[in-house]
Amino acid sequence: MGGDPAPFACASAELWASRLLDGRIGIAEAEAVWTHLARCPSCAAFLSDLLRIRDRLQALARSEAAKRYLEAEDRLEERD
Ligand SMILES: [Zn+2]
Repeated sequence: MGGDPAPFACASAELWASRLLDGRIGIAEAEAVWTHLARCPSCAAFLSDLLRIRDRLQALARSEAAKRYLEAEDRLEERD
């Protein structure tokens, strides 16, 4: 192994990257993920894919159909 210790295997970096986007990890883990991403082009590409997917999901969540769905869900909750 070289002098560059890898605190993360790529598989766990991918897992943590998706948690990072969900805001479900602590600062120490987030730093380890960013450090890995800075050194690892394949994980960096994975993260940018995730970001693109998330942007797309957010765009879908703003659509009219999503609004109607969320309103219907609110009404169901009020009924309880
Ligand atoms: Zn990696």
